[in-house]
Amino acid sequence: VIALLPSFRLSRPTSLSSAFASLDEDGTAYVGGTELLAAMHLGLLAPAHLVDLKRVQELSGISRRGDRLLIGATTRHREVAASPLVAASAPVLRLACSQLGNPRVRSMGTIGGNLCFADPRSDVSTALFALQASLTLRSASGQRRLPIDEFVLGAMDVDLEDGELLESIEVPVASGAQVYLRHQPTEYPTVAVALVLSDGALRVVVGAIAERPQVYTAPSLDQLSVDELLPQLEAMEDLNGSAEYKRHLAGVFVNRAAAALREGLGG
Ligand SMILES: Cc1cc2nc3c(=O)[nH]c(=O)nc-3n(C[C@H](O)[C@H](O)[C@H](O)COP(=O)(O)OP(=O)(O)OC[C@H]3O[C@@H](n4cnc5c(N)ncnc54)[C@H](O)[C@@H]3O)c2cc1C
Repeated sequence: VIALLPSFRLSRPTSLSSAFASLDEDGTAYVGGTELLAAMHLGLLAPAHLVDLKRVQELSGISRRGDRLLIGATTRHREVAASPLVAASAPVLRLACSQLGNPRVRSMGTIGGNLCFADPRSDVSTALFALQASLTLRSASGQRRLPIDEFVLGAMDVDLEDGELLESIEVPVASGAQVYLRHQPTEYPTVAVALVLSDGALRVVVGAIAERPQVYTAPSLDQLSVDELLPQLEAMEDLNGSAEYKRHLAGVFVNRAAAALREGLGG
């Protein structure tokens, strides 16, 4: 049942300092509203004061800083997917952002909103675990940096303090081939896998089947053992299938992604 939104106060700051002043007045951040407004419509959340971050320029945009790619938290999925910088420096992130949800979600939803909401099926999380991203969190009194696996703690659970915003995401520029594949019978993936080669070593991340992405590493692509990986994977049963089905699907997709990597490398 979709209900009318409860009444709330809306602030539209145009700078970080005014955003923090509004957050201080019991404000809740939002950008695309694809998660937050849906939860409000369903009566699951009723924030009294929304702080719309869309006009805060400092939080948006994509740039390259030396050997790192910097992405502002309010950058939309569509912009990430269309960015030549992301395509060249972080192909798995481009693939994740170009496939997730539907065109409306990609047009309105943001990379930061996705991470802060921490849906276990987040494509962004899966890609950023594979890229070993680090995040900058900012509050009125300072900033701190965290690796992604210390920020995303579990389902709908992140290390974000009151009055703190996710400011930006940093990823090392790709040094090897990358592949992202997902199984999507509905809008969210049932399983998503990201494979990243870096200095010959392979990082495999399996997303969407447990509370947060799971990481497995192998010294090289040739030494990847899916038989060894599968029993290590946690999997949750839900409407899309049993834990056993999810684990099986993960194996199928890791094998497909590894074959795509080999093909891309001419092997
Ligand atoms: C139909 C549908 C299908 C979807 N399919 C997929 C999918 O396949 N894969 C996938 O990964 N995702 C999917 N999503 C989720 C989508 O990616 C996220 O909804 C979107 O990225 C969230 O961004 P937003 O700006 O809309 O967040 P909002 O809804 O505005 O905010 C979400 C949460 O994050 C907080 N927040 C937002 N920005 C910040 C910030 N900078 N700092 C601190 N807190 C912040 C808000 O307070 C709120 O709690 C889907 C969503 C829908 C509705």
